Amino acid sequence: MILVVLEHDGTRLRKGALEAITRARQLSALGDVSGVVIGENLASVAEEARRYVGTVYVAEVGAYTAEKWAAAAYAAAQRAGAKVVIATGGRQSRSWTPRLAYRLGAGLLEDTLETSTDGSRVIASRYSFLNRVTEKQAAGLPVVITAKPNTTPLAEPQGEGSVERLSVELPAAKVEVLERVTEQKKGVSLTEATIVVTGGRGLGSPEAFAGVEQLADLLGGAVGATRAVVDAGWRPYGEQVGQTGKTVQPNAYIALAVSGAVQHQAGMNKSKYIVAVNKDAEAPIFKIADYGIVGDVHQVLPALIEATKKL
Ligand code: FAD
Repeated sequence: MILVVLEHDGTRLRKGALEAITRARQLSALGDVSGVVIGENLASVAEEARRYVGTVYVAEVGAYTAEKWAAAAYAAAQRAGAKVVIATGGRQSRSWTPRLAYRLGAGLLEDTLETSTDGSRVIASRYSFLNRVTEKQAAGLPVVITAKPNTTPLAEPQGEGSVERLSVELPAAKVEVLERVTEQKKGVSLTEATIVVTGGRGLGSPEAFAGVEQLADLLGGAVGATRAVVDAGWRPYGEQVGQTGKTVQPNAYIALAVSGAVQHQAGMNKSKYIVAVNKDAEAPIFKIADYGIVGDVHQVLPALIEATKKL
């Protein structure tokens, strides 16, 4: 049996969950696919999830902590008799999947790009060294896998599964969450966007991001930022792309006044098309760009906005 830990936003399954289901189906030689939804008020996500997997386990454990998620995924894996557990890669899963792998005595294949099986092992590829090296790994069963977002086609619904509530033995909390403030963001999420418009320090001021936002809105994309911009307090950390920020892989990545430092590239160099605007023809971003405009962003960005309005 294969268990997918299904990411959701409280109402709907996230795109990453549908990618993880596809990964599970690709490993169907290792068993049928079931899923678990973890969190609170899970009725609507469970209802959606049962269209994709045979059994949906529902673990109502309250707000997120890594210990709770690991305990709930462990309970679901035990109940399902799963030898393979698949989750969406990301900052959050990076904290609970090692705990789960430890409890299951399983190997951990993280941030995988592709997964296959030879019947007794799971073989996976992933990037390392700032995305410059692709390596292949293999792990016997049991195994916990995370699937890097934006690498896999989204699963289609497939029938009507059953729903089973799970009782989870929660460990005594070693850390207490005192407050949780959710950032109010409009528009598409950065990691799920098919177009990302990123602004760098060369924009010169936080006010100049109004143009970045406008272009992203017109294109139905999301706004990204470099670390220099985030460190300056111009944009929230949630928008940072790069080694210490988010990894994105949109169809189009538009980098405005971004130098293209290796740490920034680590979060975006697998985008399908990269478009760069920079006044310095020698800026490193042009080495990985498919299309480049050498010019002043304060002239090029308004022209891009006007051109986009006409589309
Ligand atoms: P700059 O490097 O200052 O580049 C600004 C660019 O704008 C220049 O190329 C300049 O030619 C251009 N420019 C200036 N004015 C104009 C204009 N009017 N018109 C057009 N172009 C103009 N960085 C990240 O982004 N993400 C990370 O996750 C990250 N993690 C890091 C982790 C570590 C451990 C370290 C050491 C660094 C990390 N960095 C990260 C920082 C990274 O090294 C760079 O400092 C940062 O990416 C630079 O941001 P920037 O391109 O906005 O700024």
